[in-house]
Amino acid sequence: MSNSLQTVAYVAASILFIFSLGGLANQETARRGNVYGIAGMAIAFLATALGGDFTGYTTLLGAILPAVVIGSLLASRVAMTSMPELVAILHSFVGLAAVLVGIANYLAPENGLAGSEAFIHQIEIYVGVFIGAVTFTGSIVAFGKLRAIISSKPLMLPARHFLNISLLVATVIFGVQFMQLNSPAGLTPLLIMTAIAGVLGLHLVAAIGGADMPVVISMLNSYSGWAAAAAGFMLSNDLLIITGALVGSSGAILSYIMCKAMNRSFISVILGGFGEGSSAASKGPAQEVIGTVTKTSAEEVAEELLDAQSVIITPGYGMAVAQAQHPVAEITKLLKEKGVKVRFGIHPVAGRLPGHMNVLLAEANVPYDVVLEMDEINEDFPETDVVLVIGANDTVNPSALEDPTSAIAGMPVLEVWKAKQVVVMKRSMASGYAGVENPLFYKENTQMLFGDAKKNVDAILTQMRAKDEVGSGDKVLVSV
Ligand code: NDP
Repeated sequence: MSNSLQTVAYVAASILFIFSLGGLANQETARRGNVYGIAGMAIAFLATALGGDFTGYTTLLGAILPAVVIGSLLASRVAMTSMPELVAILHSFVGLAAVLVGIANYLAPENGLAGSEAFIHQIEIYVGVFIGAVTFTGSIVAFGKLRAIISSKPLMLPARHFLNISLLVATVIFGVQFMQLNSPAGLTPLLIMTAIAGVLGLHLVAAIGGADMPVVISMLNSYSGWAAAAAGFMLSNDLLIITGALVGSSGAILSYIMCKAMNRSFISVILGGFGEGSSAASKGPAQEVIGTVTKTSAEEVAEELLDAQSVIITPGYGMAVAQAQHPVAEITKLLKEKGVKVRFGIHPVAGRLPGHMNVLLAEANVPYDVVLEMDEINEDFPETDVVLVIGANDTVNPSALEDPTSAIAGMPVLEVWKAKQVVVMKRSMASGYAGVENPLFYKENTQMLFGDAKKNVDAILTQMRAKDEVGSGDKVLVSV
């Protein structure tokens, strides 16, 4: 393939990636967005493999074929609830790739660069390896936290800010040394800096608490994009630069949106533990929750739903674990047919990855127009008859607004307790991801329906259908 054809292919792939991002911004166009992304990646791959004076096809196939098989197997088997872990570990691969590309590039024989070009190329290598190493180890820690291999509690080392700054200063010192040496003599400072950046990545993410994990995931997504862009500079590959910049900037925007949704400062999250003034640790023990809990049954909930004029469903992580979205969609359909105003309230960090609930509801064919964001629905709770909280906990926790000592104080939440009746479905009184007690369970207008969400939603649906049939049977009797 000629160079000009390769450039045209790269431009086409870049445009497809931009369309892909545009499509993914909305549930109705998300499928199309994915198709654009796949097409863009196929074009990018073929143009890179067939372009230039590349000849090492045996090596390329030897690396790609096993990777395709392993990747397809793992991705097809992964449960929706484990998706954030998969994303985290994939980010670590991007980081590792940037490190390896950087080191290989530095050791590559004669690259034909001299003077300021060679100088800039060396900076590209150093910066690329640095970002890659931070992304690599940071993503591994995020993976460990999400998989509960590592505690999700923030690691609060004494003088941790000083440690971070010292690591950064050491990076700059070794950078100066690296720039003064020619290949391969600069390999030693480059490798030492890689180790330092690795420790920095470990420490930055280890210092971030469980409640901030949504931001960490999107932040590492952003870092992986910048690592890819840096690799693009090292390899003089325009497409990799564009793609990396798209991922890097969209990840940064998503991180900002998540921070706003959780009322966290972007900088304090990025710097891992800075400004943890809002954390429980710095505010003393959270208020103890005491009170009595009212239990309910599937039959009672079915009756309440059929008697209601307006219902809001607020799903959370538990709905994903239980895979309850399909019977939930059936309940929605039945209520709509009966003229009940039924809508969903989605918290921006519900579940374990951005958009988790939207994906599940779309999979169960819940119409998009009844799925509303927290900001769009929060004012409607006081006029709502019944709220069904399905496997959500932190995202409906009133202590975020009422208890300044809570670890999630200040985080905007779905104000479900303002509705006339709230039904909370979960298996026990256990706390949610942030480990915070939830006073919602003890409120007078709250009823707890304990058990697996799928089993309970199925039972409610069966009861609703039975009552509905009896109801319509009565009507027939009357008309006879
Ligand atoms: P939570 O994690 O706060 O609570 C989920 C609840 O679901 C638990 O209390 C659990 O209670 C219940 N549950 C679990 N399994 C089942 C089941 N099979 N049936 C019924 N209930 C079940 O969920 P939310 O969605 O409200 O909040 C998300 C949390 O995750 C936030 O703290 C957020 O910061 C964090 N997070 C979000 C990410 C994102 O990007 N969205 C990423 C990482 C973290 P029980 O055990 O009693 O059943």
